[in-house]
Amino acid sequence: MPTCDVAIVGAGPYGLSAAAHLRAVKGLEVRVFGEPMSFWERHMPVGMRLRSPWAASHLADPACGNHLSAPIPLSRFIEYGRWFQHRAVPETEARKVLRIEPGAAGFRVSLDSGEECTARRVVIAAGIVPFAWRAPEFDSVPTQYASHSCDQRDLRHFARRRVAVIGGGQSALESAALLHEAGAEVEVIARQPRIHWLDRSAKLHRLGLVSRLMYHPSDVGPAGVSQLVGRPNLFRRLPRRLQDLLGVRSIRAAGAAWLQPRLRDVPISTGRSVISAAPAGDRVTLKLQDGTERRVDHVLLATGYRVDIARYSFLSEDLLKSIRRIDGFPQLDAGFETSMAGLHFLGAPAAWSFGPLMRFVAGASFASRALTLRIAGRAAQRAPVSHEKQAMESARQKGNVRARWQR
Ligand SMILES: Cc1cc2nc3c(=O)[nH]c(=O)nc-3n(C[C@H](O)[C@H](O)[C@H](O)COP(=O)(O)OP(=O)(O)OC[C@H]3O[C@@H](n4cnc5c(N)ncnc54)[C@H](O)[C@@H]3O)c2cc1C
Repeated sequence: MPTCDVAIVGAGPYGLSAAAHLRAVKGLEVRVFGEPMSFWERHMPVGMRLRSPWAASHLADPACGNHLSAPIPLSRFIEYGRWFQHRAVPETEARKVLRIEPGAAGFRVSLDSGEECTARRVVIAAGIVPFAWRAPEFDSVPTQYASHSCDQRDLRHFARRRVAVIGGGQSALESAALLHEAGAEVEVIARQPRIHWLDRSAKLHRLGLVSRLMYHPSDVGPAGVSQLVGRPNLFRRLPRRLQDLLGVRSIRAAGAAWLQPRLRDVPISTGRSVISAAPAGDRVTLKLQDGTERRVDHVLLATGYRVDIARYSFLSEDLLKSIRRIDGFPQLDAGFETSMAGLHFLGAPAAWSFGPLMRFVAGASFASRALTLRIAGRAAQRAPVSHEKQAMESARQKGNVRARWQR
């Protein structure tokens, strides 16, 4: 059976970024499995724009400069991710990992091609699709009538139909805008008493030096808090209760200011929740807690994601049992390693250990560096290589990446 040092599961921002860093370690054999940027391509709506600024969304090097206008269109970001993959991790294998189980020399990894390999270490950067949250009120409604926002790639086919969007965050509000623009009759139904628009935050971002003091370049979290969130090694040392509090505050449901004019003609019902949903012919009837009802053609559940790594179907039972978990999150050490030696998690599952930055592209750089530090330390013992050589190789790769994207 072929053996590699590190197998990375997932070729999204975290998997690609980790691979780009690990490749620079001489003598380390790294394999990356997954379709590059497939989550962004298949599970986000056509026409979407990123809420994060470019400074928080690049995968390679901030010196790339601001080449993408804000807000960044989804299509451009996918293009950028693919370009990055092509240049920085060309050997990515577009295969699905079906199973990972503990083996004699590390982990046994089975692929959908029928191939199996042994990896001394495994890095899971498999994203959030399995964590899509669907409230139990919708259990009896087929997905044809009530779907999660991650299952709707093109909202234009809802033209002339009546759609209820459940949720009050960026995904719900932007989906509602896209549906409205596509000619659907839309209503947003949100539990919170009011929509949090980020207009004050947009103004605070225009204050030059003062903005830079309030907001870390990763730009996750409110003024001030952003500086803590942007430093995961500091954030993880805060008392647990404070981490939880700041974590919730940093990812609370909110809409970018630039969405407001696009939703001027869309009804938004706040302070209301759906208490039951039932199919009625080719429609759905929703009962709200205020006693009112809605009959719609479709319900779009923009209700977010809840991390629970047990939902990664490729993790064997044995493996899962060996991972110390809290509320579905793996407990990770400074090298993003679980209680099962050699197994690492990146991206949203790392948020319990490193804070809300890990839910965003901006966390990929920190995570990749910490991971590489852990792995390279040990790899270097097996295959010594001068640090100078490593730095030159890394600089050469970065140089290539930067120069080509700028063209
Ligand atoms: C609507 C929406 C808008 C968002 N906007 C922003 C934003 O503006 N800025 C921001 O920073 N973040 C945003 N996010 C969060 C964003 O999803 C994450 O920041 C980012 O995707 C994290 O990257 P990742 O590599 O962890 O996961 P992903 O991008 O999901 O990549 C995971 C990859 O793993 C692959 N994979 C999964 N299982 C397997 C398997 N078994 N075998 C092989 N490959 C596998 C998938 O195909 C996928 O390509 C948004 C999320 C949503 C839902």
